[in-house]
Amino acid sequence: MAEAKATSCSTCKETRCSAKEQRPNETPEMYADRMAIEQRLCRIDHKIIVLSGKGGVGKSTMAANMALWLSLSDKETGLLDIDFHGPSIPRLLNLEGASIDVRNKTMIPPETDSGLKVMSLGFMLRGRDDAVIWRGPMKIGAMKQLLRDTEWGDLDYLVVDCPPGTGDEPLSICQWIENPDGAVVVTTPQELALLDVRKSINFCRTLDLPVLGVVENMSGFACPQCGEIVDIFKKGGGEQMAREMSVPFLGRVPIDPEIVRSGDAGELAVGQKAGSGTQQAFDSIGKAILEQITGSQNRSK
Ligand code: ADP
Repeated sequence: MAEAKATSCSTCKETRCSAKEQRPNETPEMYADRMAIEQRLCRIDHKIIVLSGKGGVGKSTMAANMALWLSLSDKETGLLDIDFHGPSIPRLLNLEGASIDVRNKTMIPPETDSGLKVMSLGFMLRGRDDAVIWRGPMKIGAMKQLLRDTEWGDLDYLVVDCPPGTGDEPLSICQWIENPDGAVVVTTPQELALLDVRKSINFCRTLDLPVLGVVENMSGFACPQCGEIVDIFKKGGGEQMAREMSVPFLGRVPIDPEIVRSGDAGELAVGQKAGSGTQQAFDSIGKAILEQITGSQNRSK
């Protein structure tokens, strides 16, 4: 359970907090934004950013399953969905139609039955089929608002579902979130996705953002009859790429029609009864991520 922390800067004992000083390259406006976001997120112990080189590789599926897995493992967890290219998290977690409670200019995130707190751009759209044309400044404004105004309270973990790629949006998010534990990079095994994921890893290196590891999604096919994994396309590319780029490999998830069915029904795989190969895959990826986080904490002691 998350330990209760100071609720305002005036009662906080953290002396090294970077929100206390304006950086040389920052305008007063940039500093005010960074300070507001930092104050909002400083009661969260661990922050995990989920990235992918391109869309459609299962990044949101992975972020939602990872966050639910943490929440079902008795960790106070939040999931922040800032993917403009289709905020799918409310549907995946059966929170479509949930409304945000606004109190004292802060937004209270809706919760799943398991107590996972969820904030998503999707809650701000009127209907699931609405076409929203996001211009650049609107995107930056919406991202800032979600980060600055969501009241998470004390959390053990915050999982952030970022927009895909290495452009302005993931860049701004990674720069606003101070001291994240690192990034989980999701890919599929095909060469085209792997080309993009190499860029994601180099993006993390440029920003000094630790890479917690790579997940290879849609790796082999889980037979709905017998559960056996059949390698219909390709497998292992993500693991090999992780080795070549000296980053941890966290595990693989097969193509599983159950992931599509359960996602559409708002009943994620990790929330279902134990035993399926896919569920075991999510379980082992969750454990591998925790090991990376606790291992790096022990190393820095
Ligand atoms: P992204 O966030 O990278 O754009 P999503 O998580 O939205 O990708 O997934 C895209 C689609 O692929 C969704 O319909 C999702 O249900 C499906 N999907 C994701 N991972 C798997 C998988 N391992 N097996 C089968 N379908 C999957």
